[in-house]
Amino acid sequence: CGVFGVVGVADAANFVALGLHALQHRGQEAGGIVTHHTDTGFHQVRRMGLVRDNFTSASMMEKLPGGIGIGHVRYSTAGAKGQTNMRDVQPFFGEFSMGGAAIAHNGNITNALSLRKELIERGSIFQSTSDSECIIHLMARSMGRNIPDRMEEALRKVEGAFSVVAMTRTKLIGCRDPLGVRPLVLGKIGDGWVLASETCALDIIGAEFVREIEAGEMVVATERGVESHFPFRRQKSRFCIFEHVYFSRPDSQLGGRSVYETREAIGRELAKEAPVDADLVCPVPDSGTPAAIGYSLESGIPYAMGIIRNNYMGRTFIEPTEQIRNMGVRLKLNVNRALIKGKRVILVDDSVVRGTTSRKIKEMILDAGAAEVHFRIASPPTAWPCFYGVDTPEREKLLAATMSEDEMCKHLGVDSLRFISLDGLYRAVGEAKGRDANAPAYCDACFSGEYPVAPSDMIEQGFRS
Ligand code: SF4
Ligand code: MG
Repeated sequence: CGVFGVVGVADAANFVALGLHALQHRGQEAGGIVTHHTDTGFHQVRRMGLVRDNFTSASMMEKLPGGIGIGHVRYSTAGAKGQTNMRDVQPFFGEFSMGGAAIAHNGNITNALSLRKELIERGSIFQSTSDSECIIHLMARSMGRNIPDRMEEALRKVEGAFSVVAMTRTKLIGCRDPLGVRPLVLGKIGDGWVLASETCALDIIGAEFVREIEAGEMVVATERGVESHFPFRRQKSRFCIFEHVYFSRPDSQLGGRSVYETREAIGRELAKEAPVDADLVCPVPDSGTPAAIGYSLESGIPYAMGIIRNNYMGRTFIEPTEQIRNMGVRLKLNVNRALIKGKRVILVDDSVVRGTTSRKIKEMILDAGAAEVHFRIASPPTAWPCFYGVDTPEREKLLAATMSEDEMCKHLGVDSLRFISLDGLYRAVGEAKGRDANAPAYCDACFSGEYPVAPSDMIEQGFRS
């Protein structure tokens, strides 16, 4: 998901809509905006579908007046999957003794089921199937004297990944979980402040990037300034390494450099680890493009757009049902036949999950007359599900969970298949010595099976890592 908030501007909703539009790659199922106006109170709109289809008209913006606002774009990873229900669309709103508050959450709460059970037994009435709603109910039960205190108390009971943006009548609040699994950045616009999942959402409104919110940090921004503190026990951060590989937008800044540069470095590393003699390096667009450029630069093999993408489709995997996903590849990607015929082609993609994309693309490339097809993948084999906010399927559906690299190569029917090593990936994201096995700098659970936060709901349901 993507989260965004702004305080201290005129017509906050316009900024929120633009920010969410820039974060649309983080979720396309639904979106919502909450604002507050000093004369008319809180205003909220939630809609299925894209930001550009819902939050651009003047008549819509009139429904969302005020100088403070937050928003959310949704991609379902928890709750009822596949058929997003309006009641699962964020931000969520709660009325407390000291006033109203709205929250927008990116991540996944790993003890949400047990919290929900406990809260329901004690009288909470849940409106949605979303894990994020727990936060509102925990806030309602808190004895804290103000909203930030209540939010802090609620978040101390929550396990897993959360980057939360919340608002009261006057305060914009941001908080990252103790490991900082999902991103969150602070920006400045005029006298106002902005919180966003990624810096590309600051760029679109002309806000200045101030800094990343730190792991375990809570900030409260008002028109007077920003206060910061660290409510949780300090731990070494474990940012999601897959944000670098796939999830974040390439023009966003993470850890002091652009995601694009990191992806190009991943491609270079991959070329060093897994060279092969060929005529062309082609990306599986768009997610494989920067890594393919890196692979080409390092290997000296020419880069070419052997596959063309129809830009009017969403990301294939983000549409939740298998059937749509299966069709998606063909609807979205087409082979540039004239270029491919008779060539030995290296195809670079960011990840292999179920193997659907790679299998379809291999067929299309061979149909077009390629002499050889070599797959190079910019992440290690995805052998474990993510429980922290990225929608990977159950373990049995992950190709790498049941097959070795050689078996996957045979299964996909390609001439060779190689994944970057976990150490190579760490080097590419800036850890010169590779992965420190005793204290890894990132979450890499979907590759390593080492979960930095025990997925307690899943363990209760029988999951073993
Ligand atoms: Fe990111 Fe993978 Fe960790 Fe999920 S399991 S947070 S996708 S690194
Ligand atoms: Mg892709």
